[in-house]
Amino acid sequence: MGEDLLRKEDIYDVIIIGGGPAGLTAGIYTARARLSTLLVEKLALGGQASITDRIENYPGFIEGVSGPELAHSMEEQAKSFGMRTVSGEVTRIDGNDESNIKKVFVNGEPEPYQSLSIIIAAGNEQKKLGVPGEKEFTGKGVSYCATCDGAFFRDLAIAVVGGGDVALQEALFLTRFARKIYIIHRRDRPRATKILQERTFSNNKIEFVFNSVVDEIFGQTTVEGLRVRDLNTAETKELQVNGVFVFVGWSASLSFVGKAVKRGEGGYIIVDKEMRTSREGVFACGDCCEKNLRQIVTACGDGATAAFSAQHYVERIKGEEYV
Ligand SMILES: Cc1cc2nc3c(=O)[nH]c(=O)nc-3n(C[C@H](O)[C@H](O)[C@H](O)COP(=O)(O)OP(=O)(O)OC[C@H]3O[C@@H](n4cnc5c(N)ncnc54)[C@H](O)[C@@H]3O)c2cc1C
Repeated sequence: MGEDLLRKEDIYDVIIIGGGPAGLTAGIYTARARLSTLLVEKLALGGQASITDRIENYPGFIEGVSGPELAHSMEEQAKSFGMRTVSGEVTRIDGNDESNIKKVFVNGEPEPYQSLSIIIAAGNEQKKLGVPGEKEFTGKGVSYCATCDGAFFRDLAIAVVGGGDVALQEALFLTRFARKIYIIHRRDRPRATKILQERTFSNNKIEFVFNSVVDEIFGQTTVEGLRVRDLNTAETKELQVNGVFVFVGWSASLSFVGKAVKRGEGGYIIVDKEMRTSREGVFACGDCCEKNLRQIVTACGDGATAAFSAQHYVERIKGEEYV
């Protein structure tokens, strides 16, 4: 990511943690406002948006847009304004109130990157089922990304676990490859938006298995099937599938934040409407915040607001605020 020219003694105006839609949008805004901006990303830039095939609800794209394409455009846009990036996992932040300098520790190294403000845009992580076989067969039939792994299941039977937007949307995508798809959901109907329900119900490759949970994923060296339990009757049955795609929700994964900022239910960061956290000079945006709607468009909106707040904070402590 071009980090070879970065020096840890430099003090950035803002360090952004996480390069998904929220972090990249924040980067577009801070870099364009001529704040020196460093973004730290532990995986690939683009976040969750880059692992979905088609996004239909991001404004401005009548035919939809591919996730990787949208993510790449955001990355290029932020870089065109001068945002710099570093590859690594933030393991700790130090937002000491007595000093205006914030410290961001990457990969557990003792020397931190330094900045006047921090924007946390670390998103959240997909929940696991926590059943026997899941860990063992991850990468051998168990997947959390249809775009990445769908093509491995050409003409095979697979299962998708979950009943929300992402589960149904990804199941529809998987119909391009799989011969048969069971959607296993613990409730008696999907939670997803109506248009996705209509499309999945009318697709003859898809069969819903409602009121059911997965008890076990089994096989020899790769997935050969799973055992599901009916929550009403307690009866179990086996489904012969070669793949299991898990989309059962998300949880905050913000261990690096520790007690630096206040967090609410599920560990999500509490922010006000200006994306300010409980700690001065530390802002948060996107899926890592406590909120109701976690989508690309809301992550981008949060990112812009967080950047605007960070800009005013930095200008104020530098004595450059336009009043
Ligand atoms: C399969 C799938 C399909 C989806 N479809 C749609 C859709 O059609 N429309 C829609 O609007 N939304 C969709 N979403 C949801 C959307 O992608 C998210 O709401 C959005 O990406 C959230 O953006 P974010 O930047 O807040 O978080 P994320 O996209 O999660 O990005 C956070 C980034 O932070 C990085 N990070 C985390 N911790 C650290 C750390 N300690 N150090 C450094 N980096 C770190 C992560 O690696 C990640 O790249 C979908 C999600 C999935 C998984």
